[in-house]
Parts: sequence; structure tokens; C-alpha cells
Amino acid sequence: MTAARRVLLKVSGESFGRDGTGVDPAAAEAVIAQIAQAIEEGIQVAVVVGGGNIVRGAALSEAGVERGSADYMGMLATVINALGLQAVLEGHGCETRVLSAIEMSQVAEPFIRRRAVRHLEKGRVVILAGGTGNPYFTTDTTAALRATELSCDVLLKATRVDGVFTADPEKDPEAEIYESLTYLDVINQRLRVMDTTAITMCMENGLPIVVFNMAQDGNVLEALRGRAVGTTIGAAE
Ligand code: UDP
Repeated sequence: MTAARRVLLKVSGESFGRDGTGVDPAAAEAVIAQIAQAIEEGIQVAVVVGGGNIVRGAALSEAGVERGSADYMGMLATVINALGLQAVLEGHGCETRVLSAIEMSQVAEPFIRRRAVRHLEKGRVVILAGGTGNPYFTTDTTAALRATELSCDVLLKATRVDGVFTADPEKDPEAEIYESLTYLDVINQRLRVMDTTAITMCMENGLPIVVFNMAQDGNVLEALRGRAVGTTIGAAE
């Protein structure tokens, strides 16, 4: 893969909490430092933040909250993480802007595509909060959507494991990593990388995905530089 000029990094909510829950932006310190380095190298970085450390709509709706409301709660959770990420990034000397799909004028700009592009061109980290602004979607789908509309070269999906495996590597020691996959492999084999809506969106727009381990030192920066880490997902050769 050639060096990326503009990337979209998807960081799940669990990265913002200790042991996957709560909010402790310092937990994502290593990732954040690497984003700051990438910006210094002139790479344009947009970040979609998840909210699973605070609220997951599907789980909350199983607990009795009506799904639409539960999902809006999830979207609001992403705004909390976005503000945490912004604070820590600014501590690293990065200029940032939080753009929210749900209007929240006191804390974030509204998401306006052309404005997001302008911020990226000026070297600001664009933190995209509020998901797509619609219930029944995920922040993975948000990442696919925003990466496409912001003309990013690649969607980088940061995870807790090294890439996509034949089985869950946290449960099965025999699990092997895939170096590359096609979008259809992911869909047909029901590999649990991203939801199907997100994968389909990437497939239809020819957007490459790199799934990599963000806990491994230097990986985020390497991925942001467009180097091969983890598993690459794209069209068949
Ligand atoms: N969500 C939503 N629409 C979106 C994005 C997110 O309704 O466009 C809600 C959904 O309830 C989801 C929650 O926000 O469970 C948090 O997002 P997600 O689960 O994708 O976060 P992550 O797993 O990446 O931490």
C-alpha cells in the first residue's frame, strides 16, 4: 500500500476506558501520541470514536430501553469519548475539532462535510462524534461512511488483536491471522471484523480497510503511514 495522505481511524469506545469500561482518556495515551506524530508528518487524520465503553444500544435495549432511545444514548456516549480524545490530543499540541452528527453547539461543531475537509487540509485532527446521527447503525458504519465522503485513502480499524483471525484468538490458541482478505471473504465467512453494513459500504466504494492491533507499540503510526500492519481487506486481485 502506498503512503496514505488522508486516513480515517476508527477507535472503539473500549480504548477510552480501563478494562473496556468507563472513561479514562489516559488509557488511550499511546494511540493519541501516535496520532500526534502522524499529524506532524503531514498525514491528515479523521477519527471516528465509538461509545461501547459507556453505552451499547443493542445491550441496553435488551435490558428494556426502547431501541431508538438506547441508540441515541449510545451516540451521546461517543460525544463524551470525543471530548476526552480532544483534550488529550490538545495536550500533545495537536489542533483538533470535534464535529458531531447530533447538533450540540456548546461542545462541538455540526458535521458538515466541506468543513471537515477544510479542517483536515489545515492539519487539524477531525474527531467525528455522534455516529451517523441515526439509530440502528454502528460507529463502524459511521467510519465507512465518513471515510468515503471525506475521500480518505484507507479506513484503519484499531482493535485489541493483531488483525483478522480464523477464530477468536483470545479464545482459540490455534487461530491464525489473515494477511489479506477480500470484502466478500469477510461477508461470506461471517468474519467478525465490522458489521456487514460497514463492509458493504467499503466494498461498494473501493475503500481499503486495515485491521490492526493498536496496543502494539508503533502500530498506529505505521498504519497511519500506510505501512502493512495486521490484515488488509480489499477487492479481489
Ligand atoms: N450508534 C447509533 N448510530 C450510529 C452509531 C452509533 O445508534 O450511527 C449507537 C449504538 O447504540 C451503538 C453505540 O452508539 O451501540 C456506540 O457505538 P458502537 O457500539 O459502534 O461503539 P464501539 O463498539 O465502537 O465502542
